[in-house]
Amino acid sequence: MNAATLDILRCPYCGGRLELVATLFHRRDGDEIRDGILGCHCCIFAIIEGIPVMHLGGASTAAREHVQSGRPDLARRAMFNLDDESDAAHFDAVASSEASTYREVVEALGPNFEGGYFLYRFSDPTYIVADAVVRSVAGTVLKGGGRAIDICGGSGHLTRSLLGLSAPAPVLADLYFSKIWLARRFTAPGCEGVCCDGNSPLPFARGAFRYAMCTDAFMYIWTKRQFVGEMARVIDIRRDDRRDHGGEGAMLIGHTHNERAWSPSHGQPLAQEGYRDLFEEIEPCIFGEAGLFADVVNGGPLDLGRRDSTEAIDADPALTIIASRNRDVFKPHRLEPLSGAARGELRLNPLYSPESRGDRIALHLSFPSEDYEQEYGGCRQYLPDEVVIDSRSLTALEEGRITPEVARLARRRVVLDLPKRYY
Ligand SMILES: [Zn+2]
Repeated sequence: MNAATLDILRCPYCGGRLELVATLFHRRDGDEIRDGILGCHCCIFAIIEGIPVMHLGGASTAAREHVQSGRPDLARRAMFNLDDESDAAHFDAVASSEASTYREVVEALGPNFEGGYFLYRFSDPTYIVADAVVRSVAGTVLKGGGRAIDICGGSGHLTRSLLGLSAPAPVLADLYFSKIWLARRFTAPGCEGVCCDGNSPLPFARGAFRYAMCTDAFMYIWTKRQFVGEMARVIDIRRDDRRDHGGEGAMLIGHTHNERAWSPSHGQPLAQEGYRDLFEEIEPCIFGEAGLFADVVNGGPLDLGRRDSTEAIDADPALTIIASRNRDVFKPHRLEPLSGAARGELRLNPLYSPESRGDRIALHLSFPSEDYEQEYGGCRQYLPDEVVIDSRSLTALEEGRITPEVARLARRRVVLDLPKRYY
């Protein structure tokens, strides 16, 4: 972590500032703190591979003791829950190779990690809506500067959408150390990671951010009222009432389930009036995801000026909630087509398998499993069953050249802008 990030970090229990304990084991590389111990009024916490662990649950105490004993390697193993010696040695070998991919590292963590569908994440319906909403809202409120936080951001697939919008770099907060570690290495390189519990007060100072979001996770939070209050605090939404404030922040809860409409991995969702009651200081705007999805599939604009009917919201399995005093948020937003600057590397969508037809190549859509098709089959609305391309386009893609046809395939999501060394 960058030493400057200590300015916004606070203890979740006493609210005190954190300082690197100079008398205990630590490794620093200029402004970057790699491993060490942070102290506040009440407690000490470990920094492991640049990620402060700001909770006392799970393996955090054992990991902190390893850091204090000068064994950050064992601390990482503890945070990855690698108890078996041979599994741990295998993981260390994969993780230490510069050439390893996200897929290889995930596979080294065992079959239960990440649920298996991470390969297809960048074209699934939930992701494409969330990415468009995040870029539109964060892009609006961070125009004049300011920092973003992705809370419960997992392995950073949407934190990646904040890179380039947030200055300083966005913060990814999650309970799972392993996911943050993956995000910093592969999915959202350059983000700051903080390991913390979404059911506790957030370990950040009031007003540390101008944009705070939580996507595809809020229905699993038990302390929902506290969580929303904490989101409001870290963007200091009250400050927006004062005239001297230069810009207005935003809170986004994306893809949260709806108590009135069943969906897989339902969690403990609320109905729309339940969600509204969580917001004390500002009236949120609630959208059914179906309308946003249709906007994205049609290529935009994404109309955040719409007001969905009560009936439409009640019928939608997934909701998006936005709270902001910035009126520019609640307008139609143009969706940026792929420009010349892909942020990662352009690759063929792994849902497509190529079949050679002379100098043409047919790409066929197929799903990894019936379960996948059940949950994400909505992607058929934008992914063509078959697309025939010139073999030169595939060569251009492999060479990283963005020809007009490659750009067209990217707009159709047959070609994806993936993090480097993703698979
Ligand atoms: Zn404390």
